[in-house]
Amino acid sequence: MNTSATPTPVQRSRRVERLVRGQPTSDGAGVKLTRVLTHDLQQRLDPFLMLDAFGSDAAGDYIAGFPDHPHRGFETVTIMKAGRMRHRDSVGNVGLLEPGSVQWMTAGRGIIHSEMPEQEEGRMAGFQLWVNLAAKDKMSAPGYRDVPPSGVPAFTLDGVAVRVIAGSSHGVGGAVSRPTTEPVVLDLTLPPGSRFDAALPPGHNAFAYVYGGGAVAIGDDGAQTVDSDRMAILANDREADGVRFTAPADATGPVQVLLVAGAPLREPIAQYGPFVMNTVEQIHQAVRDFQAGVLAT
Ligand code: MN
Repeated sequence: MNTSATPTPVQRSRRVERLVRGQPTSDGAGVKLTRVLTHDLQQRLDPFLMLDAFGSDAAGDYIAGFPDHPHRGFETVTIMKAGRMRHRDSVGNVGLLEPGSVQWMTAGRGIIHSEMPEQEEGRMAGFQLWVNLAAKDKMSAPGYRDVPPSGVPAFTLDGVAVRVIAGSSHGVGGAVSRPTTEPVVLDLTLPPGSRFDAALPPGHNAFAYVYGGGAVAIGDDGAQTVDSDRMAILANDREADGVRFTAPADATGPVQVLLVAGAPLREPIAQYGPFVMNTVEQIHQAVRDFQAGVLAT
């Protein structure tokens, strides 16, 4: 869907506080990926707990997939860019994630699911973002939404293609809207020489991951160049009303950026693998519930 957008120039852009290079790792049954938002950044980027980027043309890097595993206490957002994955869960949901689609799963008190490649060759690429739930919502009923490519609102402004996965941008509401953490997730494609302003509340934590096409400049006066495959943590400047991206005029192709922002929860974070709660005792309870077979009942 393509919607008309309202230009909303930013008066003062956030600056880059820090650049982060992702860490190569593997997860599931041996899927190779890059962990961009790592454990040590959970407080700084509250309410976001993790961002994984995956992308490979080699089936051996992804074919083992993510067999049945549990989650409790947060939400997972899967953004597919290339390839196909099949989702099945303990609630009875089955979904096919295809290029351009988004899956938003609220684990709540517990879900067991698998995410398996539905292809034996070719490219598989995308992201998985983990969004924390407030203490009051951690034991809520699980939820699941599959958003097909056509269900992600999109617009083009001054040549920049914007897909509004969550939250809103330039008056366009996204595919998903969540209370409390108010996540904004935008997938941006900036042609050479283009500029894009995104309004962001100063108190919301935000980061941008540049994932294709080369470098982009972030900021206004003294903008910082951010290379591809780098995450820029955006400073919470009190005077800044958003963030500005500028693609260099001599870029060889469009620059691709994932912009993520949300309202911090400011609650304790206790994580053990796929369980994210507030206290160690709640983690022990999650492990006991999983072992007793009652996590996802
Ligand atoms: Mn999972």
